[in-house]
Amino acid sequence: MAIDAPTSSPPSFSPWSDRLRHSAIILLAAALALSVVVALGELSPIRAAAVFICIAAAALVPWRLHNAATSREDVRGVNPVETAAVAAVVAGMPDPAVLLDRAGRVIHLNVAAAQLAPALRRHELAQFALRSPEIINALREAIATSEPRRAMYHDHAPVDRWMELIISPVPVPTLFGGTDKCMLLTFHDQTPLRRVEEMRADFVANASHELRTPLAALSGFIDTLQGQAKDDAKARERFLGIMHAQATRMARLIDDLLSLSRVELSAHVRPDTQVDIVPIIRQVADGLEPLARERQVVVETDLPEAPVVIAGDREELLRLFENLIENALKYGASGGRVIVSLSSAVSGEGTPEVRVMVRDFGPGIAPEHLPRLTERFYRVDVGDSRAQGGTGLGLSLVKHILNRHRGRLLIESLPRHGATFTACFPQIRTPAVAQS
Ligand code: ADP
Repeated sequence: MAIDAPTSSPPSFSPWSDRLRHSAIILLAAALALSVVVALGELSPIRAAAVFICIAAAALVPWRLHNAATSREDVRGVNPVETAAVAAVVAGMPDPAVLLDRAGRVIHLNVAAAQLAPALRRHELAQFALRSPEIINALREAIATSEPRRAMYHDHAPVDRWMELIISPVPVPTLFGGTDKCMLLTFHDQTPLRRVEEMRADFVANASHELRTPLAALSGFIDTLQGQAKDDAKARERFLGIMHAQATRMARLIDDLLSLSRVELSAHVRPDTQVDIVPIIRQVADGLEPLARERQVVVETDLPEAPVVIAGDREELLRLFENLIENALKYGASGGRVIVSLSSAVSGEGTPEVRVMVRDFGPGIAPEHLPRLTERFYRVDVGDSRAQGGTGLGLSLVKHILNRHRGRLLIESLPRHGATFTACFPQIRTPAVAQS
């Protein structure tokens, strides 16, 4: 896969010291030849000296004249593209960058490029250090056509990532006042974009799957009701009940999807309305009382009498506490008890926080699931979640709402010892009149 090694030496990048050496060799050879001719008596020493001066002038004067016309760097014998100024430009580029000569040899590279491809060496062919076939092909084409090229490749070491290489031919001055095309290689890490793209595709696939399941059930029952169960009043009653549950599930899913997208859209805008969260929690707990009774769970609230004010969005906070308390009632029902409490605490970074804790005494959650619980559509037990009317989006929504409020979610659980979900909000500094 490697590109052919160039058969000729790279053009016009030999330093001035090489040229001086060549001139010195010519003069030495001339001096030797003239000495021999003088020794043989074919030329007088004075004439030989005159000839030598002419040869020396022929060898050195054009060189001096050209030097006078070129830059100060050139006078010191440095090719324009090898100057410290060009090196500084490459070094200052934020992404990994490598400047190659037309033959593909490295002229300059920055620290980021050296970290990306530690085998890259100045004055050596880049193709031996950059072994990806995509890079080598793009480089070969760019060199052959002097046109820009792009290549995407998958890097496995030191970490797994997707990189984009952009090769831009750049005209640079040569030693003798002309221009040549060098190749500027810049590397861009596309991994975050790629991950977002994968997440988006997964999300669409999951959402369609979640919607298709109740939809298939609905159309199945419609067919049955139009066919064999047409005149069966008992079956009709039962099927309509199931259809209602499926339609409710679809509506809930769409509702959750819309809420999630709304919260995400406003993620960068922190809510600035001051709200008292105590009545909000009470309202949610009271609203879930029928579910608690149905599941035979006692909800105990341990909330202060005085207002607890945070900067928040009332609707989002209602949604957040509803999800946490409802989950405790659904998945922790076997414990028969749910505690909702509010306290003040200080975060690990020393920030004062308001913490709302929802604790149940149900089966708890195995540790391997804890880090993934807030992912969209992630469930410990899909069947159980569906049976409870879950969408798999509740905790994801909770996390996004907390992010927008610059808060965080703590999850603690041990199998058979229940689960505790704690929503932490930053405390506001100045006491203020709250909206409840
Ligand atoms: P769902 O709509 O399925 O309830 P969530 O995002 O709210 O989705 O929760 C994700 C999963 O986390 C649930 O399916 C359930 O498996 C688990 N879970 C959430 N809360 C609890 C809890 N209090 N006890 C045990 N498991 C829980």
